[in-house]
Amino acid sequence: MRVTSDDRTRRPGECSHHHLKLDAHGGIVACRDCGASLAPFWALRMLADQYALALAQIDRLQDRVSNADARILQLSTELDALAESERARKESSVVP
Ligand SMILES: [Zn+2]
Repeated sequence: MRVTSDDRTRRPGECSHHHLKLDAHGGIVACRDCGASLAPFWALRMLADQYALALAQIDRLQDRVSNADARILQLSTELDALAESERARKESSVVP
């Protein structure tokens, strides 16, 4: 006698099948979350779409890093100018 539990985390109707399980022996592609069998072409296309989304996300993050770098440089320059004018003001108030 053998008892197995259903370890699926989702049901096929409510799943986007993003976690694939590859059976190398049978060449079968299935969803790790809901257990549905998937057409290999569908799986390949889903992976290509996810890859494109990930690349777009990387581009957006690189833009944000570049903008943050430029902003830090600008603020640093402003801070230097502020410190310089403060130092000049103190020096002129000390010397009569
Ligand atoms: Zn699924």
